[in-house]
Amino acid sequence: MNLERVFSLFRHSLLNMEVKILDMMGFSRLTGLAPGLVIQGPTVLPKSNGPLGENSEEPNFLDSIFWMAAPKKRRTIEINRCRRRNPQKLIKVETNIELCPACGNLKQKHVLCGYCYEKVKHETAVIRRQIQALEEKPLNSPSVETVVLYEGENPEEDDKNKRIVERSRKRPNWFSRY
Ligand SMILES: [Zn+2]
Repeated sequence: MNLERVFSLFRHSLLNMEVKILDMMGFSRLTGLAPGLVIQGPTVLPKSNGPLGENSEEPNFLDSIFWMAAPKKRRTIEINRCRRRNPQKLIKVETNIELCPACGNLKQKHVLCGYCYEKVKHETAVIRRQIQALEEKPLNSPSVETVVLYEGENPEEDDKNKRIVERSRKRPNWFSRY
C-alpha cells in the first residue's frame, strides 16, 4: 500500500464523516445546503488602502466586514451590579400620594384624580353629542351661553335666550349649577 492510497482513503473517510454530520444537522445532500460564512456589507464603506507595493487592487474579504468596538476585558459582576444598582439610577420612591376624597382611588397630591376625570370626560362627551344631535350640524361655539339642565331642574329667567341641553339623569356632585 503506497502513500497515495493511504491519503486517498483518509480523504474519503473525511468526506463520509462530513456528509454524516451534515445529515445529522438537517442539511441534506440533495438540497446542497451547507453551513458557510456569508459576508454582506454595505458597499459604500470606504475601502481601506493597504500599504503601497502590495497588490492593493485585489479586494480583501475583510473589507466587507463592518468592524465594531468590543470590550477587551470582562467586567466583574460586582462592578456591573454597582453600576446597575446605583442610587442615581433607581426609581425614586413616591411620597406625594394620597387617597381621592371623592372615589377613594390613589392619586398624586395636588393633581386631579384620573378616575374622577374619566367621569367628567364621559359626561362632557355625552353633552357634546346631544348638542350636535339637537342642532343637526357640526359642533361650533354659539354666541350665547350653554346651560345644562339635569333631572328635576327648570330653566330660569336668565336662561331663556341661552342654549339649553337637558340630561335625563341626576346632576353629578362635581358639576354645580352656578
Ligand atoms: Zn377620584
